[in-house]
Amino acid sequence: MPTQTLPLTISMHPSDNVAIVANDGGLPAGTVLSNGLVLKDKVPQGHKVALVDLAMDAPVLRYGIPIGYALKDIPAGSWVHERLLTMPDARELDNLPIATVKPAVQPPLEGYTFEGYRNADGSVGTRNILAITQTVQCVAAVTDFAVQRIKVELLPKFPNVDDVVALEHSYGCGVAIDAPGAEIPIRTLRNISLNPNFGGEVMVVSLGCEKLQPERLMPPGSFAIVDERQAESVLDVVCLQDDAHVGFMSMVDAIMRQAETHLQRLNVRQRETVPASELVVGVQCGGSDAFSGVTANPAVGYCTDLLVRAGASVMFSETTEVRDGIDQLTARASTPEVAEAMIREMAWYDAYLQRGKVDRSANTTPGNKKGGLSNIVEKAMGSIVKSGSAAITGVLAPGEKLKQKGLTYAATPASDFICGTLQLAAGMNLHVFTTGRGTPYGLAECPVIKVATRTDLARRWHDLMDINAGTIADGSKTIEDVGWEMFHLMLEVASGRKKTWAEHWKLHNALVLFNPAPVT
Ligand code: CA
Repeated sequence: MPTQTLPLTISMHPSDNVAIVANDGGLPAGTVLSNGLVLKDKVPQGHKVALVDLAMDAPVLRYGIPIGYALKDIPAGSWVHERLLTMPDARELDNLPIATVKPAVQPPLEGYTFEGYRNADGSVGTRNILAITQTVQCVAAVTDFAVQRIKVELLPKFPNVDDVVALEHSYGCGVAIDAPGAEIPIRTLRNISLNPNFGGEVMVVSLGCEKLQPERLMPPGSFAIVDERQAESVLDVVCLQDDAHVGFMSMVDAIMRQAETHLQRLNVRQRETVPASELVVGVQCGGSDAFSGVTANPAVGYCTDLLVRAGASVMFSETTEVRDGIDQLTARASTPEVAEAMIREMAWYDAYLQRGKVDRSANTTPGNKKGGLSNIVEKAMGSIVKSGSAAITGVLAPGEKLKQKGLTYAATPASDFICGTLQLAAGMNLHVFTTGRGTPYGLAECPVIKVATRTDLARRWHDLMDINAGTIADGSKTIEDVGWEMFHLMLEVASGRKKTWAEHWKLHNALVLFNPAPVT
C-alpha cells in the first residue's frame, strides 16, 4: 500500500470552492495544504474543506454546481459538514434542456468477445441457472425445502448447470392486485423469470388460491415454448393445493420431478463465443461516500462508455440519486422522446414520494454523511457519473424488459435490492456495484462485480471487493486504467472464467419487489 505522507485534496471542477480530503484517516487541524491553505479544523477523510472564505448564504460549489448554501460565515480551511449547509430545492421538471447535447460519437470498440449461453430468443446468459418462479410467498418455504434437496440429489448429475435458485418474494396475495402500480411487481416477477441466465426454462410453483394466478403472472405468449412436442406454450406449474397431492412429500417430489426435466435441458447448454455487445450491464452504487463520485463511479462511467462503444447494453438507475441532475440527463437524451420519457418517470417518482410526504432528500443515510456526503445533491452529482458520457437512447419504467442496446435510464428506486431486482427484470446478465462505506451485496441470479472507492476499504475487505478504484485517489492509477480493468474483468466474469467474491462466498441478497400499490 502506498503511504500517503503529503496532504492530498481533490476538487472536481475549476469553479469548486470546496475540495475533499483524500488521506486515510483525514488531516489534522494545522495541516498546510499544497496551495498554502492551513486547516482550521480536523477534516475526516472524504469530507470537504473550504478553499476560500464562504460568506453566509454563499453557494458551496462541488462538481461546479451548488450542493448547498452556507448557513453562516465559513472561513477558508474549515471543515464544511452537512450541518453548515442548507440544501437547494430540486430542479423543476419544466423548461429542461431537451436533447441539446450531442455527445461526440466514439469509435466503435470491435473484437471483444466473451463465452456466453445463447438463448432461443437471441439473448445471452452469463450463467446457467435453473430458476423456480413462485406466484406467492406462501409457497416459499416448500420451494426452498425442495431446492435444498435438488442441490444435493439432482444438481451433481447436471455438471453444466451452475445453480438452482428459488425466486422468492413477498408478493402474490393480500395485495390490491388491480390497483394502479400493481403491474410493476407483477411484470417484474414475470420478466425476472425470463432473465437470460435462466435459459427460458420457466417453471412455476403456485399455491392455488392466491390472487396472482400463474396465468396472470405468465400469460400465454409471454414465455418461450417449453414443450416442443405440443408446439405451444405450456406453462409448467406445480400447484400445492392440487387434489393429487397427499402429504408434504408429494409436493416436494412434484417440484423435484419437474425441476429435473428443466435441468436436463439446461445441462445441454454450451458456452459459445459471442460479441461483447451481448452484455447487459446494470450499474449501481450503495453505501456511498464522497469518494464514490471521485474514483469508482467515474471509472464505471468510463467503462460504460467502453461498453456502449462495444455495442452492449448498459442501464443506470436509482431515480432519487439522479433526480438532481435531470437537466444533464435530458440534455444528453438522443431524441426529445427519450427526454420526455425520462421526465415522465421522474415526475411519477416525485408524486410517489410526495404521497409519503417526503422528497428525494430522504435518500441519504447516516453512513453517506459520515463518508462526507452532505446531502442528496452532492450524492447525486457523484452518482450520475456512472452513466458516462454517451447519448442516452432508452428509458425503462420499473420492471420493464430491455429491448435495445446502448445506454438506457432504467427508472428504479435507489434501494440496492430493489434496484438490483428491477435490473434483473430488465434482463441484466452482469451487475457492477460501487461502494465506499462497504456492502457485501450479491445476487444469486447474476454475477455482481463490486468496486471499492477507497484503498482502505479494498485493503480491509480484500476478499469482498473485486476492484479497487481507490488507486485513482492514491494517484497510482487513472480513471481510464480502472475503467479498462473493469471492462476486461467483465468479459472474464461473463465467460465464467472468473468468479466474483460474492459468487465465491455465495452472498445472495433477497429479491425485493417494488410494489407502489396498496396491500390489503
Ligand atoms: Ca443503490
